[in-house]
Amino acid sequence: MSYGYHRTRKASLSLRQLLEERVDKDGPLPPHRPELDQCWPACPARGGPPGPNYAEIWVPAEQRTRSDHSIAWELAYGNHPCMRGPRLGHIQVLHRCDNRPCARPSHLFLGTMSDNIKDMHAKGRAADFNGANCGAAKLTVDIVGTIRSRRAAGDSLRTLGQTYGISSGHISQIVSRQIWRNVP
Ligand SMILES: [Zn+2]
Repeated sequence: MSYGYHRTRKASLSLRQLLEERVDKDGPLPPHRPELDQCWPACPARGGPPGPNYAEIWVPAEQRTRSDHSIAWELAYGNHPCMRGPRLGHIQVLHRCDNRPCARPSHLFLGTMSDNIKDMHAKGRAADFNGANCGAAKLTVDIVGTIRSRRAAGDSLRTLGQTYGISSGHISQIVSRQIWRNVP
C-alpha cells in the first residue's frame, strides 16, 4: 500500500531531510528587506507551492507535527524554548522577513509574540507574499495584528478581506476591535 510505504520511508528520514524535502531554497526576496536575500519557504503538507502560513511537518521520531521554521532553528542553532502556537509572552521563532513559511535560518530570530506584534507595527508589515492564495488562512494573533496595521496604513476592507480570505464585514469587526480585543 502506498500509504504504508510512504510512512515507512518518512520514518527513515532525518529531521534535516524532512525539512529539506519541503523547502524551496529559491523563494522570493522579502520586498521590504531585500538585503536578507531569498526566503526558503516550506511547502504545505498537502503539496503545492508554499502558502502564506507556517508549514507543518510530521516528525515520526517525535510523533508530532512541528512548524518548518521551528525545525530550521533547531537544526541551525540547537534547541530553543519555543512554545507551539501564538501565545503572548512565550518565546518563539519569529521571522525578520515576515514570510511565515520561511525556514532560512538567517531570517529567523527568537522573541515573544508581543515582540512580533511590536515589530510588525514598526514595519507596517506591508509585505504580501502569497496573499491572494490564502483563502483558507486561519486567523491568528499574528494575522489580526497585520490586518490592523495594514488597515491603519490605508488598505481597504475589501482588499484585506480578499487577502485573508474572509469577508469585509469580518475585517471591519477586527479593525474596530469588536472581535480579537485581546490582541494589541
Ligand atoms: Zn525569509
